[in-house]
Amino acid sequence: VAVRILVTNDDGIEEEGLHALVRACEAVGQVTVVAPHHDRSASGHSITLHKPLRVSQAKIPGSEAVAWAATGTPADCVVLAVYGLLPGPPDVVLCGINLGPNIGHDLTYSGTVSGAMEAAILGIPAIAVSLDAERDPRYEVAAAFAAALAREVFRRGMPRDARVNVYVPNLDFGQIRGVRVTRQSARRYRSRLERRTDPRGRAYYWIAGERTAAEQAEPGTDSHALSQGFVSVTPLQMDLTHPALLSAMATWELDRLLGRS
Ligand code: MN
Repeated sequence: VAVRILVTNDDGIEEEGLHALVRACEAVGQVTVVAPHHDRSASGHSITLHKPLRVSQAKIPGSEAVAWAATGTPADCVVLAVYGLLPGPPDVVLCGINLGPNIGHDLTYSGTVSGAMEAAILGIPAIAVSLDAERDPRYEVAAAFAAALAREVFRRGMPRDARVNVYVPNLDFGQIRGVRVTRQSARRYRSRLERRTDPRGRAYYWIAGERTAAEQAEPGTDSHALSQGFVSVTPLQMDLTHPALLSAMATWELDRLLGRS
């Protein structure tokens, strides 16, 4: 049985990272594409509730896959595919290949990871894939690895609330040292807010961030694996509960705040 793969992304349907992933997936299964019409990077897990969604048929260069461009976010695209556009749910959802980092705190903002999260909520195994490149992306290794991992996930299955975040160094195949299963690293940016002045003399603000040094990354993390030339594979869960604070707060006797003892 051919694995049925849904491919989406957050950079938009025109992006080469998506096209490379689609072509690689066609070698392992039956591929359908539903991707945002334009760049929805850093859209997080937003879904569109207050206006209609529109889709139009699209063509992925070098591919025969059925494809749609949608006006929504990556999460919208997964919902559109599963409940509207596909004859049945796919076996695996792949989201990417994102051009640029998706590790550490990026995961909270990432449309790429959120597309995978939406699939996980719908009970479909999902993989988010990003390439560590600002320019001159080398997508082929990341695409081939992601497609092979999709088949592996299809074969082995995944827990219902899980999804996987894959981050690939922008290296040639021969330079990549291997694959590391990692945990999410902590913050990699120092937030910056720039205050500027517009031509009418009014202040406006621009949110920016500076990458902190990779050598600060702890061993075992996504960031560390990357800095050592490995592909990073991080299993993620949906539950946001903080276990240590859960235990600590249980002793705070919060009934007191209701005036009860
Ligand atoms: Mn993006």
